[in-house]
Amino acid sequence: MSDTDPPETDADTLRTPIVAVLGHVDHGKTSLLDRIRGSAVAAGESGAITQHIGATAVPLSVISEIAGELVDPTDFDLPGLLFIDTPGHHSFSTLRSRGGALADIAILVVDVNDGFQPQTLEAIDILKRTETPFIVAANKIDTVPGWRPNENSPVQQTMESQSERVQSDLNENLYEIIGELSDNGFSADMYWRVQNFQANIGVVPVSAETGEGVPDLLTVMMGLSQRYMKEEMAIDAAGPGVGTVLEVKDTQGFGTTLDAIIYDGTIRADDTIVVGGLQGPIVTDVRALLRPRPLEEIRTEQTFEQVDAVAAADGVKIAAPDLDGAMAGAPIRVIRDRNRSEVIAEVESELAGIEVTTQEEG
Ligand code: GDP
Repeated sequence: MSDTDPPETDADTLRTPIVAVLGHVDHGKTSLLDRIRGSAVAAGESGAITQHIGATAVPLSVISEIAGELVDPTDFDLPGLLFIDTPGHHSFSTLRSRGGALADIAILVVDVNDGFQPQTLEAIDILKRTETPFIVAANKIDTVPGWRPNENSPVQQTMESQSERVQSDLNENLYEIIGELSDNGFSADMYWRVQNFQANIGVVPVSAETGEGVPDLLTVMMGLSQRYMKEEMAIDAAGPGVGTVLEVKDTQGFGTTLDAIIYDGTIRADDTIVVGGLQGPIVTDVRALLRPRPLEEIRTEQTFEQVDAVAAADGVKIAAPDLDGAMAGAPIRVIRDRNRSEVIAEVESELAGIEVTTQEEG
């Protein structure tokens, strides 16, 4: 199984960018993630879809299949995109890496009829503060009165097939969103007019309901990552793993476990790790690394399979003793051949950062 073997190269593997989805309640964050997940499953051969903990991996081959003519896979060498499954800015703010955001890139979902709402503005503030590059998904385009859906179509194609009236109503709403972005200090435009995604925010009209614009959304995210984040994605994939705790929870047969995202290096089933806890760093030996078993293999009791190693960027469930005091959002670091007290000190200083942030945000 290639994805459980430790990586062979020792330096400069390109990892998957981590994507977060933010936006006002009911604007369609969960629906959009579900749609992306659904499209990925439909596009991949079902046997090839790996289940993940806390995140959805969409490999480049699947993006290319979904995006069709929009993507030429030879333009990319990043392996795909990893979407954090818990949308919303609470998880975005809690999940950090080395003091910054865990997510490398974000999708800000805005209901095309509803426009900017209080939580849209909060999300914008957080994205600004963490300097996270983002694009805007102007969602629910299918709710414009008179819309004729074209399931999973690239968005320009489906927009051109609408009546003049529908097109002009949609454009009016889209330009309102562009105006609101501008009021908040971001120069923005429809994504197909944006040349420089560092200077301008691209707006992608989508429907989580019909899948229209989803090919565009994945293409733009992939392009943005490839163009502006390639250097940050270069990691020593075989090095000691570094990650963030998503959730601390009881797993039958394993006691208290951590659901985590590994964003650098590799964690192995025989590693000793340091985890941030309520009472300070916890040093413990990994007992098992778990992944969800492929759906078709799930019988009754064994939902998870054990793997030997997990490389960044990926989700994993970690079973180990003494995890009761661990906390969501805390750092995880593998010690391996590093100096134990140095690693503990790193976790300690990262924990201090988390406390400050929590206080700031009330
Ligand atoms: P969240 O709170 O941002 O996660 O929003 P949800 O994904 O739960 O969506 C809120 C409601 O809007 C649900 O009833 C969805 O079915 C609906 N919805 C989301 N996206 C779309 C869309 O593109 N078109 C339509 N017609 N409804 C949508």
